[in-house]
Amino acid sequence: MKVFPLRVGRTKVPYGQFYGGHDGFSVLDLAGDKSSFIWVPIHAYLIEHPTVGPMLLDTGIAPAQAGGHDAYYGGTVMQYFTDEDEYDLPAEERIEAQLARHGRHPEDIRHIIVTHFHEDHIGALPLFPDAEIVLSRGEYDARDSLIAGLVPLAFSKSVAQVRSWRPVDFTGPEIGGFEGSYDLFGDGSVVLLPTPGHSPGSTSALVELGGGRRALLAGDALYTVRHLAVDDVMQMQVQNGAKPVFTDTVRRIQWLHRLLPGLVVLPAHDHTPYGAGLVRALLDAEGELTDAAYAAAKAYEAETFDPAYRLNPARRPRFVPDPAGGTVGTVTGTVGD
Ligand SMILES: [Zn+2]
Repeated sequence: MKVFPLRVGRTKVPYGQFYGGHDGFSVLDLAGDKSSFIWVPIHAYLIEHPTVGPMLLDTGIAPAQAGGHDAYYGGTVMQYFTDEDEYDLPAEERIEAQLARHGRHPEDIRHIIVTHFHEDHIGALPLFPDAEIVLSRGEYDARDSLIAGLVPLAFSKSVAQVRSWRPVDFTGPEIGGFEGSYDLFGDGSVVLLPTPGHSPGSTSALVELGGGRRALLAGDALYTVRHLAVDDVMQMQVQNGAKPVFTDTVRRIQWLHRLLPGLVVLPAHDHTPYGAGLVRALLDAEGELTDAAYAAAKAYEAETFDPAYRLNPARRPRFVPDPAGGTVGTVTGTVGD
């Protein structure tokens, strides 16, 4: 199976949202911190299955969010919960432009796996009204629950045109640290795993790359590969009380990562050389992972955390403020957005 990362714009987030989970960075900070932003890429994935055809994992954002914030979110609490310039989407990075480069059109996409309902993952769903939307039952059932007591998990405009929901239960066999799974097509090519914490029913997809290689498309269960070192690097938890659930999920991913030879983990917003390298490698090699790219990813992992997933102190992220005094800085050990 071929997997193509699609860069669908970028999002501006507070540094603490990405890296402040151990420092008590809270939803209040999320709303109030306007001085230490970073830009991170947004990735969806085009998966070309040999018999099922093309499908997506997440959709990224759409122009209505990026260019018309107030019109899109106006009259809802989202207008204030998100920043006017929260998203940046150049025309050539729109998902339909990305698909066209791979010879596909939105109407070709019959299935979309939604890792979770956050806006940077489902904003372009309205482009795919005929696709079946596959997601965990936990996420589906929580669609009207409130993030931080304020914002519905699934923003109405982004999901209004969906006609076919397919909530799934993880009733399949255990894999690694996961007590259940869901084999989407019954052939082992795409196996969904429960990775809650970042949202109530966050889901990751274990996909076959061929040649004995697999990728865990992790959505936001991990923001970057560094977040596998969960005792040292943690993202902020949006849901109240989610930290133990989130930590448990990362430990299960660690277990899977240790157990499965040939596995690479691909978060949606990885702005480290690891994430950027895998994205480039998959695109350059037409959706496959070469030996060299795999070796480079494993070398980066070995330099980043030890076998117990403790972070190499030299890889500890730090915020680097804008030298010109602006509100958007960078992070050590990343390649930018
Ligand atoms: Zn995200």
